[in-house]
Amino acid sequence: MALAVYNTMTRRKEEFRPREEGKVAMYVCGPTVYNYIHVGNARAYLVFDIIRRYLIYRGYEVRYVQNFTDVDDKIIARAREEGKTPEEIARFYEQAFLEDMRDLRVMPPDVAPRATETIPRMLEMIQGLVEKGYAYAVDGDVYFSVERFPGYGKLSGRSLEEMRAGERVEVDERKRHPLDFALWKSAKPGEPAWDSPWGKGRPGWHIECSAMSLHYLGMGFDIHGGGQDLVFPHHENEIAQSEAYTGREPFVRYWVHNGFVNIREEKMSKSLGNIILVREILKKYPADVVRMLALQTHYRSPIDFGPEALEDAKRAYERLENCLFALNSYLTRPHARTAPVRTQRETELSDSFLDYERRFREAMDDDFNTARAMGVIYELVKELNTYLQEQERFPTPAGPVIAGMGRDLLLKLCQVLGLFLPAEEVEEAVFETGRGVESRDVAGLPSPEQLIDLLLEVRALVRRKKDYETADLIRSRLKEMGVRVDDLREGQRWKYVGKP
Ligand SMILES: [Zn+2]
Repeated sequence: MALAVYNTMTRRKEEFRPREEGKVAMYVCGPTVYNYIHVGNARAYLVFDIIRRYLIYRGYEVRYVQNFTDVDDKIIARAREEGKTPEEIARFYEQAFLEDMRDLRVMPPDVAPRATETIPRMLEMIQGLVEKGYAYAVDGDVYFSVERFPGYGKLSGRSLEEMRAGERVEVDERKRHPLDFALWKSAKPGEPAWDSPWGKGRPGWHIECSAMSLHYLGMGFDIHGGGQDLVFPHHENEIAQSEAYTGREPFVRYWVHNGFVNIREEKMSKSLGNIILVREILKKYPADVVRMLALQTHYRSPIDFGPEALEDAKRAYERLENCLFALNSYLTRPHARTAPVRTQRETELSDSFLDYERRFREAMDDDFNTARAMGVIYELVKELNTYLQEQERFPTPAGPVIAGMGRDLLLKLCQVLGLFLPAEEVEEAVFETGRGVESRDVAGLPSPEQLIDLLLEVRALVRRKKDYETADLIRSRLKEMGVRVDDLREGQRWKYVGKP
């Protein structure tokens, strides 16, 4: 079975055939770093993290590039408000974004170029476009001439006339067509500026992504991702610039766009005042619950991030967590070492495991249908819970083997989607951006999970010594930090439940 991907360009699912066999080159539009990221923006990074992880599971070698837009009107405005330089604002929110992505357990990009460090590439492109007659300079600004590019509108599926009617475009006498967009903007006093053949200025937003994606991935790369709101004008403009400049097409093989985020059926927006920041949500819910919410809806559909939806996702997550916990505690119990002869039921069950993985793949191969894939996982959970109950009443010699296979499969499928990742996979991303230097891990530092386990080991020790005061202190301090500790027959169990 082949992988099918919905391509915004052709408006249908297509068989996925990458430019180079076994390799996928993908580019996702990164954040404009002037504020903390909210869940509306974060959905894209979760969606493309899930897609990237699935492609890796499918055996592809994936190269993932995601930029930082670190020069922009919004950054300049923010800097003025706070009495800082635009660079200080950009670096601060870039760091905050990296922390939020790490906390969401999103894999860091292979390359994370900054716009300000790719300016020579952009100037090269702009100059090329002017020379070929696709762009013109007026008073230090350079505009792309949309009428010169016959394919303009092919991604959004609208003609120039329709777009002109649909968009409220400011009348600018200096532009040849109202939809002509800026490749280069002349500097106003006090703004960050770079030298160019047209005087001091800074790049427009659209040219950044064309220059960075072409530089790091080359023409005709495989997947370009982003939110649906980027289709027009951002991605339409990226195509026009890149194909006009190189004289080749396509710029991108598959255009993939994720749907909007709503809060209680209202679109999340600043004007409605219903913005939820990633860091706020992560104070209340573990990253896996936020991810579960994203997984339960197809990436192209709108998603509700309201409190009820989050509570539902939390309950669904606990079903998986409880099953894994029950399997693990069953497996760590001492079992009689006998030849693991399987019963008829056990042979059938272990055979069905292959079927679960096949159905999981089928669902994900169908344009990354995570909702259907989660359905397969829930069925597996139900099956494994039933089997464990049977084992409690009528243990069989092969019980541990079958339970072990079931646990490994459940964990494997969850981890393909980025759930229940081992602690060591949560890595600190360190970027040396713009120079093509890859991110790397900070090896050796213990994870929070390891430190909690260590605390609980100490707590078990002091309890054995009947020092209940210290044991209670450890438990209540952990509780203050949002970690609930339960004393069960098989030992202590902890869980991150969020701050009280
Ligand atoms: Zn972009």
